[in-house]
Amino acid sequence: MTLDVLLVYLPYTGGFMPNLGLACVRSAMAQVGYSSQIINFDYSFSHVVNEVSDPHLRHKLYNLENWVGEDKLQGLLPDINDSVESWVQHIYSVPSNALGFSVNCFNHAATAEVIRRLRLLGDDRPILMGGANCYFPESVEGISYLADAVVLGEADETIPEMMPWFMNGCHGDPPTGVLVSRSKGEQTWKIRNPPEDLDRLPLPDYGDEIWPEGWGYPDFPIEMSRSCILSCAFCDVHSRNGSFRMRSPKRLIEEILSLKQRYPSLRLHFNDSLVNGKLPYLREACERIEAEQIDVPLVGQAIIRRDQKFEDFQAMRRAGFHTLIYGLESGSYTVLQIMNKKSGGNLSQISQCLQMTHDAGIKVVINLIVGFPGETREDLLEAADFLCENAQYIDVVASLSTMVLLPGSPVSRFPEKFGVEPTTRFGPDWQTLDGTNNYDERQLRWSILYDRLISAGVEMGTVVKRMEKPAPSPPKPRSLWQKLAGKLNPV
Ligand code: SF4
Repeated sequence: MTLDVLLVYLPYTGGFMPNLGLACVRSAMAQVGYSSQIINFDYSFSHVVNEVSDPHLRHKLYNLENWVGEDKLQGLLPDINDSVESWVQHIYSVPSNALGFSVNCFNHAATAEVIRRLRLLGDDRPILMGGANCYFPESVEGISYLADAVVLGEADETIPEMMPWFMNGCHGDPPTGVLVSRSKGEQTWKIRNPPEDLDRLPLPDYGDEIWPEGWGYPDFPIEMSRSCILSCAFCDVHSRNGSFRMRSPKRLIEEILSLKQRYPSLRLHFNDSLVNGKLPYLREACERIEAEQIDVPLVGQAIIRRDQKFEDFQAMRRAGFHTLIYGLESGSYTVLQIMNKKSGGNLSQISQCLQMTHDAGIKVVINLIVGFPGETREDLLEAADFLCENAQYIDVVASLSTMVLLPGSPVSRFPEKFGVEPTTRFGPDWQTLDGTNNYDERQLRWSILYDRLISAGVEMGTVVKRMEKPAPSPPKPRSLWQKLAGKLNPV
């Protein structure tokens, strides 16, 4: 049977879970009678990358920066060409009336490459794009010409409205929430506000994705909210998702139960920016989950809140939360103020929150940023001191990143306000107006903090470990990679 739309997610984001966004799109299409199927090449390719035995090639592939932009992708193509070709052939072989691609900054270039190859093969199916890279018209400028239509922002309410227009040739003005690239690169679009009532959205449908057979991870994404209650200066969440919204605990539990029925031994990762945006809601959700004896391991991101009590963490633990990932970002009070990350209070209150989480039996995972504009070398050392003093409460550093300026974030929109040289803000080489914070300085600070954390016995997560360069050695012959790439078995 010919599908209406084949939904495709290309590498590489290191995915270890099915794609929630595409599962929502699939449900939204079904609402108005259109059939679709998801092919998640990122999911399957991640497994292949994990098995690459050449440490240099593995490091090259793990490094997500190597996937960003057409130039970088060209550098990878000799190593991944066979895989790219297998994705193209697979997509080409599935009968559908249209194609849909989920695009983010990491798979943007790979998606463009695959679409170009499909067109060369004579595949003229209309193309729909959406995803994390499709929130602002500017962010899709370099790729929208390859698509017949781009869904801007949260797609849940746009998809049902735009499908008849899209499937019937995209004639006339695009519906609200859709961008089209006309001739000569001219773009036309109408912005749509994100859905206000998340309870009204259908539950995501992962369709026929193979799980868990052929895959080692029983992890699934889920969400209880969208956007965030904070406005950190480096973050683009409000430009992408607007204001903070929550689903009701009742609807959340409905989804958990339906997933559990289908995938009995699953683990759930909350996709939310934070699970503790509204404490009364979180308390009610935890109580209900415990009362229903749902018994599913839960992981979520959270903010450090000075008003969260020990009983809250105990209730979370009883509900199944075994890990909380805190976007702590820095252990310097000064830097946290400049970042506008103030919910944790002072350093002693932040320490108390880490301790309460730990004492409640929840694993404490933190994310850190090095080199925020305004951070000095002294601030970094102060941050290192704080983190080392609290090492006993920190289980893992999941992410230790040098500062990047995300389009749509306050620091990118108002660079001078943060002391950033505006002409440099679009790349990894950005620097401050006084030149003291530049690419090399940030690499140095990264190493300083990394060494301090290691010497304090703090465990580094997989993503951080992947950034450690393997010792130099002669490159392995390419045939090894070709052999591994041949194992690729897309779902
Ligand atoms: S960084 Fe995290 S806590 Fe801060 S605004 Fe963004 S999502 Fe919210």
